Amino acid sequence: MTKTYDAIVLGAGYFGLRIAQNLRESGKARVLVLEAEDTAMQRASYVNQARVHNGYHYPRSILTAFRSRISSDRFISENQAAIKKDFEHVYAIAKSLSKTNARQFEEFCNRIGAPLSESPNEIGKQFSPRLIEKTWLAQEFAFDSNILRELVMSQISKLGGIEIRFATKVAKVSQSAGGTKVTTEGGEEFEAPIVISSLYAGTNELHLASGLALLPIQYEVAEMALVQMPTEWKDRAITVMDGPFFSLVPFPSENLHTFSHVRYTPQVRWEDKDDSEISKLSKRDLDSFKSTFREMKADLVRYIPSLSGVTYVKSIREIKTVLAKVDLSDSRPVLVRGDFGIPGYYCVLGGKIDNIYDVVEELHEQLGL
Ligand SMILES: Cc1cc2nc3c(=O)[nH]c(=O)nc-3n(C[C@H](O)[C@H](O)[C@H](O)COP(=O)(O)OP(=O)(O)OC[C@H]3O[C@@H](n4cnc5c(N)ncnc54)[C@H](O)[C@@H]3O)c2cc1C
Repeated sequence: MTKTYDAIVLGAGYFGLRIAQNLRESGKARVLVLEAEDTAMQRASYVNQARVHNGYHYPRSILTAFRSRISSDRFISENQAAIKKDFEHVYAIAKSLSKTNARQFEEFCNRIGAPLSESPNEIGKQFSPRLIEKTWLAQEFAFDSNILRELVMSQISKLGGIEIRFATKVAKVSQSAGGTKVTTEGGEEFEAPIVISSLYAGTNELHLASGLALLPIQYEVAEMALVQMPTEWKDRAITVMDGPFFSLVPFPSENLHTFSHVRYTPQVRWEDKDDSEISKLSKRDLDSFKSTFREMKADLVRYIPSLSGVTYVKSIREIKTVLAKVDLSDSRPVLVRGDFGIPGYYCVLGGKIDNIYDVVEELHEQLGL
């Protein structure tokens, strides 16, 4: 028997949960969320760098940088308990291979109103003067994904009216008399006039099985090496911009730092150009990739010799999913497509956690809520 709801959300990542919450707050009485994993926010919403982007990262996309500045303030004030602020964030510009120089970076931060101050000498002198042009202290924080999940789950439970089914993989969506029918791998059927797909890396696999067009997505298997910092660096994050460099950012949910490198973190890259490229990599497939920690560390100590004490703990990996053709600008536009092959079927994709505000605003507009 097909169960009916006012709205169905596919995927219980941060986006799916917040969209379900929003639909409920907008008056949808019965909302269903379907999630393949055993709990919420286990995939990209957990496996990420945990950076609350504050604009600095996007000197080649002023629009993304501006939006980041606005969304970041809101995200921080709404999720205080999940925000880690008690560390210094050191940004640095490399002397060669960087797409932006120190003067341009300062001008850019000034333009978007992102605070940047001279870094104290004790920090600056740790960086190789041969390789680094300049260092600053920036104001950019990190989020604890576990606390974020607790916050959103508690808001959802207070609201009532939202049912979440875990360990339920969606196999197909199709048009039905009541809107969109959702069929699970286990053969259950659900139906609603509004169905919103928020499956991140899983979107095109569902579209292929459902005979829908594929989204223009590009993927990379990304490794986040989780590391222990030497004591004197424990309360610092480091981001070297803007090219084949690296970042070390606190990962509050495990009390470690993520270590990533533009050259080594993407372990494979591909686009869904045809059916053969659909990303069906399981968590186990992802874990079979070899860590590039050694290569990353070899490069790190060239730039910051005093970080030779960074120690590897483990790696977490996810399929990073961005809209095709954003490579040049490194921008993070959001995608919200309504009536996508089926009336009332919507797909969303956000490039960073705080894109949720843009996604919800756009959904409201398209749904007329
Ligand atoms: C390596 C990496 C680093 C990043 N760093 C940052 C950062 O520092 N700051 C930042 O703001 N953003 C960062 N991001 C981006 C951010 O993590 C994502 O934009 C955000 O988590 C997307 O949330 P989501 O809910 O759409 O995706 P997810 O959290 O992946 O949720 C999608 C859900 O759909 C479920 N699902 C998939 N297919 C099916 C199916 N067929 N049936 C049922 N359920 C299904 C999945 O299990 C998953 O729970 C990073 C991403 C990656 C991968």
